[in-house]
Amino acid sequence: MASADRSSAEIEYSPRELTLISICLLGSSLSDSKKKGVRMILQSGSSDSLTHLEKGSRVLETPKRTILIVDDTPVNIEILNHALEKEYEILFATNGQEALDIACEQSPDLILLDVMMPDMDGYEVCTRLKAEPRTRGIPVIFVTAMDQEEDEAKGLELGGIDYLTKPVRPAIVRARVRNHLELLRYRDFLEELSGMDGLTGIANRLRFDEFLMREWRRALRNRMPLSLILLDIDLFRAFNDHYGHLAGDDCLRQVAWVLTESLRRPADLAGRYGGEEFACLLPEIDAKAALWVANQIREKVSGVNIPHASSPVADHVTVSIGVATLIPVVGQSAMDLIWRADVLLQAVKQSGRNQVRSWLDINP
Ligand SMILES: [Mg+2]
Repeated sequence: MASADRSSAEIEYSPRELTLISICLLGSSLSDSKKKGVRMILQSGSSDSLTHLEKGSRVLETPKRTILIVDDTPVNIEILNHALEKEYEILFATNGQEALDIACEQSPDLILLDVMMPDMDGYEVCTRLKAEPRTRGIPVIFVTAMDQEEDEAKGLELGGIDYLTKPVRPAIVRARVRNHLELLRYRDFLEELSGMDGLTGIANRLRFDEFLMREWRRALRNRMPLSLILLDIDLFRAFNDHYGHLAGDDCLRQVAWVLTESLRRPADLAGRYGGEEFACLLPEIDAKAALWVANQIREKVSGVNIPHASSPVADHVTVSIGVATLIPVVGQSAMDLIWRADVLLQAVKQSGRNQVRSWLDINP
């Protein structure tokens, strides 16, 4: 039977999958990538029984957090594994590339990262983790024999949250890991609770989506237009690679600031939609006015003049924008609005970036 045809009650879950489902059901502080992971697993189930789920007991087990240990020396991995395996699910990597691949695919909750490794050292691995939207939120603790002040400073500067020196002491490793995971849990929880994106200070995805649903229903009731502006920072990955993730964070903040400045009506909302994607919702604004606002945003971002040496588009940071407007009718959903804006945004990205494209271009 094809997996798409089966109901979720026919899928058998591995302990790892159960852990993810538990997190999902408990509704705790999951990042978007992990929520996606849960959905993917639910959709790709392949076996036929689900007795343990029907009994309803194991689903609510406390989930084990996952830790990725990266070290080119197997004995070091063994020592750390021994210290942590009772409390956490452990993943391993013995070189930098493997670490990056696992971090992307498995979204571990924390990474213990050796500095001295052949081919790609820990600093480089950390830099790449922070440049990739899917992995940048994962806390990294450096574990190394280098104990000079400047080594530690470099690790922290690159985005590491802590620094452990070898030989590691198991009790200290356990305590530090536990503390950082607790902090992470509170950070995510507060972020979701406040509806605010921690980095940029504007609405997070959750709050934006709620706002969109509410405004969609209101526009449907009142037969008023609703406009959505979707924008993406051009070649942001290249920017991060060139200037480092701290500059990348700063760039995201500056773009968010431009959005806040550009939306002057209290009824409008700007939100961080994904890694380098932002969205603005403008209730009761028609396509023409929304296009005007979008053009303002594009010009203002250019005007901030953030250098972008690795961009073929311009010598400064630019944005690509798609704008859609709908007067909702029964049978449509807010997804139609998002889809339209996204199609236009993708079209801009295909055709040179640093432009605004509006639904007016297609339906003047
Ligand atoms: Mg090493």
